[in-house]
Amino acid sequence: MEQPILQVEHLTKFFSVGPHAEVHAVDDVNFTLRRGRTFGLVGESGCGKSSCARTIIRIYEPSQGKIIFNGQDIAHLKPRQMQPVRRNMQMIFQDPYASLNARMTVRDIIAEPLKAHHVCKSKQEVDEKVFAMLNRVGLTAEHAGRYAHEFSGGQRQRVGIARALVLNPALVICDEPISALDVSIQAQVVNLLRDYQQAEGTSYLFIAHDLSMVRYVSDDIGVMYLGQLVESSDSEEIYKNPLHPYTKGLLSCIPIADPKLARAHASTGVEGDLPSPVNPKPGCRFCGRCPYAKPICSEQTPAMKEAAPGHFVACHLY
Ligand code: SF4
Repeated sequence: MEQPILQVEHLTKFFSVGPHAEVHAVDDVNFTLRRGRTFGLVGESGCGKSSCARTIIRIYEPSQGKIIFNGQDIAHLKPRQMQPVRRNMQMIFQDPYASLNARMTVRDIIAEPLKAHHVCKSKQEVDEKVFAMLNRVGLTAEHAGRYAHEFSGGQRQRVGIARALVLNPALVICDEPISALDVSIQAQVVNLLRDYQQAEGTSYLFIAHDLSMVRYVSDDIGVMYLGQLVESSDSEEIYKNPLHPYTKGLLSCIPIADPKLARAHASTGVEGDLPSPVNPKPGCRFCGRCPYAKPICSEQTPAMKEAAPGHFVACHLY
């Protein structure tokens, strides 16, 4: 079997917020991203998915665990050792307004990674790559001399995508790349990412809080709740046969045309708020919001089990 592009094993990131107080942002997370595929990481705001992404790309230092990228564990590489890895692992950020430098032209923004990694031998070669990339994301060479504030949100995100893709990385971490955009623009940006993946074989870790969009773009899905992965499987299986009460709750918020599927997803939704991630209590973290909670749930943390081939869930019901 082909080596996966990314294997995350027991990844943990805790932030100290005072004496004896730690935010368990990412807590023993495991998943595999197949080469050339998309793994969707989904959950409410504050569930730890962005912290997980930022730990994988080493913006945050992992507390524990392995990040095996292209066969190499990069979890504890020094900044200098990370340099060649970064060339192959890029990130698209959520906010196209905040993530682009307002003082730089679009040309300079897209050229920055080429210069940082000494990819081109001449200014002409840099320009050729920048203009070619602009075309691939649906912009033109005429846009190169303009500044970010002269563009719409969708166009800015295209610039952010061009910056991430200009090095033709093997893995792109897409951290909610469409949630700040108008609904009418979201599909265009998603289609742009999909077309690029089909042409280049790029792998994506796609972070989102909206399960309907994640299903559309992802081959496999992991559902996160309060720093932990609670369910994972291929995308069709999760949608047709959700097991974890939290996943069912997330899915019940999506309107479904097929009455059979709608019945399968019948649920009370996810009521209540996400509890604090500071020093979480033992037991299932979803316990306080789960309509199926039983005594064991507040006493023992449910282990991840394979409930069906390739379909994993952490819940005492299974
Ligand atoms: Fe609900 Fe218990 Fe399953 Fe947690 S382990 S999701 S509380 S049934």
